[in-house]
Amino acid sequence: MNPETHLKTKVLIVGKGVSGLILCYLLEKKGIECILLNKEVNTSATILAETIPPSTLSLLKNIDLLTLFEECASKTYGYQSIWNNIFHSEDFFKHNPFKYGLKLNKRKVISELEKKVKSRIINYNLLKNITSTTTSVQLNNTKYNIDSELIIDATGRNRVILNFFKVPIISYDNNIAFICYLPKTKESLKYGFFTETYESGWGTVSDLNETTRIMTLYSSKNDALHKKLKTFSNWCEILTNTKILKKHLPTGNFKVTGRLANSSIPQNIVGDNWLSIGDAAMAFDPISSHGISNAIFCSLKASESINDLITKNDGTSFNKYQETINAVFNEYYNVKEKLYA
Ligand SMILES: Cc1cc2nc3c(=O)[nH]c(=O)nc-3n(C[C@H](O)[C@H](O)[C@H](O)COP(=O)(O)OP(=O)(O)OC[C@H]3O[C@@H](n4cnc5c(N)ncnc54)[C@H](O)[C@@H]3O)c2cc1C
Repeated sequence: MNPETHLKTKVLIVGKGVSGLILCYLLEKKGIECILLNKEVNTSATILAETIPPSTLSLLKNIDLLTLFEECASKTYGYQSIWNNIFHSEDFFKHNPFKYGLKLNKRKVISELEKKVKSRIINYNLLKNITSTTTSVQLNNTKYNIDSELIIDATGRNRVILNFFKVPIISYDNNIAFICYLPKTKESLKYGFFTETYESGWGTVSDLNETTRIMTLYSSKNDALHKKLKTFSNWCEILTNTKILKKHLPTGNFKVTGRLANSSIPQNIVGDNWLSIGDAAMAFDPISSHGISNAIFCSLKASESINDLITKNDGTSFNKYQETINAVFNEYYNVKEKLYA
């Protein structure tokens, strides 16, 4: 075993997704030092081509990240859908000031954000321990002990720090996404994105690049079709009654991977010396297309709250952050319930 490395920082951010990296970037701008810890997990490799709505572009502009995001995305001008046999076409031309949204290459966004931040990034494969002052992790034979005043959970739905502190998670459904990369069929997509309900939930088809589309079918873990959705050869039968989705199924056999897609929130979003952001703080149903927007928003609010605690010694700042996140989640959930109804 190599000698242990001892490091010290004000803020330790665990998780190097969009939320963790943007928080690091915003804290650096305020002169607050950070270290980022990350563990590669199998979900890190999935490319989803997430869509950002026009309303989020102003937020990106305010934090000087619009250009970076635009350089890692293609523009999108709307989407079409069929909900219970009714066709809808939503275009973004009526939105202001941005008349387009972005379809992200999230991997590229993460690598560009990594270049932008100056803080040390440490990859690990084993979380050994967390105390109120020190976090210990290991990478192969090297052990790191990191002293920090604050620790941030930015590990997405894995919620590693929250789980370590045994914070209960409130889940509102058992939504699962089954994802499959497919070669493009001749069927064209006006806006490169289409959604349609099917017997057990809803599905999307989305252009990824010149040759590939990604199809995702959402259903509940408790649904009778749950097991069948894991195998692509069943999809043709499952989508028989759809108008559009079935037309995007090529012949052949393709790999299907499952991802959690439920709506959930921890009972506590903050503690005395920890705070959660992004999906770790509140996870949205992907139908909202607001997961990335949420990650950006949480990072912005968390950076203000951390700054108030560190520079103004404002002991209420974490509670204010928690109230804001709870209010956003409640609003999201009410809209979602109406939509599903
Ligand atoms: C099928 C599907 C479709 C979606 N479509 C959209 C969409 O169209 N638009 C949209 O805005 N959002 C969409 N989302 C949601 C969006 O992907 C997430 O909300 C967003 O990526 C959350 O960012 P994050 O930084 O909070 O977490 P993540 O992106 O999950 O990042 C977490 C980071 O933590 C690291 N990590 C994980 N475990 C550990 C650990 N044990 N220790 C250390 N590090 C760890 C990971 O490697 C990763 O770097 C979709 C999600 C799904 C599942």
